[in-house]
Amino acid sequence: MSLAPLQSINEQQLNARSNVVQTPVKSDQTGEKLLKNGKRLDQDYLQNQNQHQQPAQKKKKEKLSSLCKTPPSLIKTRGRDYHRGHFLGEGGFARCFQIKDDSGKIFAAKTVAKLSIKSEKTRKKLLSEIQIHKSMKHQNVVQFIDCFEDDTNVYILLEICPNGSLMDLLKKRKLLTEPEVRFFTTQICGAIKYMHSRRVIHRDLKLGNIFFDRNYNLKIGDFGLAAVLANDRERKYTVCGTPNYIAPEVLMGKHSGHSYEVDIWSIGVMLYALLIGKPPFQSKDVNTIYERIKCCDFSFPKEKHISNEAKVLIQDLLSLDPLERPSISEIMDYVWFRGIFPPYIESTVMTEVPNYDKTLTHQESIINFRKCLEKSGLIEDSMNINKDPVSLLGSEVDKKQIIRTNILPDSLSPGDTKYKYREVMDLEAQRKLNDLAREARVRRAHQAVIRKDLVATSTNLIKSEISLRILASECHLTLNGILEAEAQKKMGGLPQSRLPKIRHPIVVTKWVDYSNKHGFSYQLSTEDIGVLFNNGTTVLRLADAEEFWYISYDDKEGWVASHYLLGDKPRELTRHLEVIDFFSKYMRANLSRVSTFVREEYHKDDVFLRRYTRYKQFVMFELSDGTFQFNFKDHHKFAISDGGKLVTYISPSHESLTFPLVEILKIGEIPGYPESKFIEKISLIKEGLKQKSSIVTVEQTQLR
Ligand code: ADP
Repeated sequence: MSLAPLQSINEQQLNARSNVVQTPVKSDQTGEKLLKNGKRLDQDYLQNQNQHQQPAQKKKKEKLSSLCKTPPSLIKTRGRDYHRGHFLGEGGFARCFQIKDDSGKIFAAKTVAKLSIKSEKTRKKLLSEIQIHKSMKHQNVVQFIDCFEDDTNVYILLEICPNGSLMDLLKKRKLLTEPEVRFFTTQICGAIKYMHSRRVIHRDLKLGNIFFDRNYNLKIGDFGLAAVLANDRERKYTVCGTPNYIAPEVLMGKHSGHSYEVDIWSIGVMLYALLIGKPPFQSKDVNTIYERIKCCDFSFPKEKHISNEAKVLIQDLLSLDPLERPSISEIMDYVWFRGIFPPYIESTVMTEVPNYDKTLTHQESIINFRKCLEKSGLIEDSMNINKDPVSLLGSEVDKKQIIRTNILPDSLSPGDTKYKYREVMDLEAQRKLNDLAREARVRRAHQAVIRKDLVATSTNLIKSEISLRILASECHLTLNGILEAEAQKKMGGLPQSRLPKIRHPIVVTKWVDYSNKHGFSYQLSTEDIGVLFNNGTTVLRLADAEEFWYISYDDKEGWVASHYLLGDKPRELTRHLEVIDFFSKYMRANLSRVSTFVREEYHKDDVFLRRYTRYKQFVMFELSDGTFQFNFKDHHKFAISDGGKLVTYISPSHESLTFPLVEILKIGEIPGYPESKFIEKISLIKEGLKQKSSIVTVEQTQLR
């Protein structure tokens, strides 16, 4: 079979393809090799998920790479000749050979047999790998050189990595030391940061795909499963990867998809494997591995020594929720990296256990770490780095030297203790920073879950741009008030004299959604009854007078209200008042009043409902005096008034209580009503306000 010439493909094709190309399962006992039968992970996995009863196919297929015969000793291409050298290694698709050009330069030639590229899918997969790899240029990524074909093979020419992979190293050494792993992780993180900045997810990061160059620097290779995102919000849905390294969201995946965080997860798996000697979810049975991954079931064996700092990092990297995993920059901030750090990896690494802990000082390690960060592109070029390391210590060294010129011998000099103490202090601060960053991630992850869950099911149409702006700014104001109360709570609360004055707000006491016919009707705690008609206007019938308001939109003012006496109503509003009467009777007969609040002296203006929004979890009311009310499905109700300073709680048995919000945040619950789950609810309230504080224009609303 002949292969069409390699053509460049555009980004759109790349993206479309990565959703459909299915990927071979990669598994064996080390979890890093392709299955011989070339079965696909997605089919395999889904079959197990659906518990198909069909007998497993016994048919054994050859590994696709075995179709790749040894290339001729002289490979001729586009005028250039290459001399084939020795065999380097074999993956699921390709065999790799050393190859030399006429000038004597040595490369690796990843060789794929054309016979193994039978389908269009496989061809596209190969083209995608080439296209993505070709676009990469980073000191810790295997450099793509060229690609060409002859009658039998496609050759991908790569920078030669003659010293094996991290997998080879682990197999030989069984375990690595923490200083070595710090160095490796920094280089790997540099490469991943680069890839992600180019919107590339590698999706198959594992020890066997990370190679050593001549100088024992690490280079990430094999872009066979990599995907390019069109933008940072795009998600990928193909179930792919290598069982031991696959992230839980990929396994859960058809609905929510996955993104960059799958690569962060695999850093955690690699870190664990290098320090413990085997991957964290290892099992003979692939399905057991998946089950363990899905509930993050791993532990640190007691007999293996591993520092607490390393454990903290691994645990955070292996967070089930992708949003809880640290970003690359956050990873580099972990205290673990502040340990002993080598300047480079010795060429004896494959056979000898280094003893950096004894030979390197803390100060040297800090310099080595910074240099490694810089070389891997994790920090900007700092002018200091290339200078003599000693000069980097600057004034500290000078101080030490001053001490050395003192009369006291070193052992009696207080200098060293001082520096050690300083170091301890810094690490403590760093640890605190790590904890704060983790808390923020957990909060963000939690908020994201709420955001995803909070979908409005119905609302009234707001017909003027200015009204939308007014509503958005009210939401914004109240949200800010809540955030301010949260900040005040963090500072220990407010003194009695600065607490806001308690004023019970006007609340919605009854409501009927009849918007499929007339509109949305409600009764307020003032006993006034309003109907928000489907055409956007409101009629508010006052309880204690024979009067009503007719409220409609105005392009400049938002809402305009006209006041009428019942006996003097315009004829065109007769029908509206009939509807109000109908609802009024209905509510009186069928609904119980949810609050005992009444009209208070400070309620100077008449209040009406500007907008209602129904969500699965609650109904949100936006009242014209800036009060927001949230009636939850579990019959607990909350109103936030006075710009976010006051919270009113209405219990299922209709007790109503108003408090300064900061006080309730301090207590953490409504006193006497822990079952109202205030803390949970306030997150939803905040999300509701946040959604509404972004202005959705009329056109957009109509489109929806
Ligand atoms: P596949 O896509 O089939 O999994 P890989 O990219 O993993 O192929 O390459 C297969 C093997 O070839 C590797 O395990 C390794 O032994 C060797 N190899 C790959 N790239 C290089 C390289 N740049 N230098 C040296 N050997 C390499």
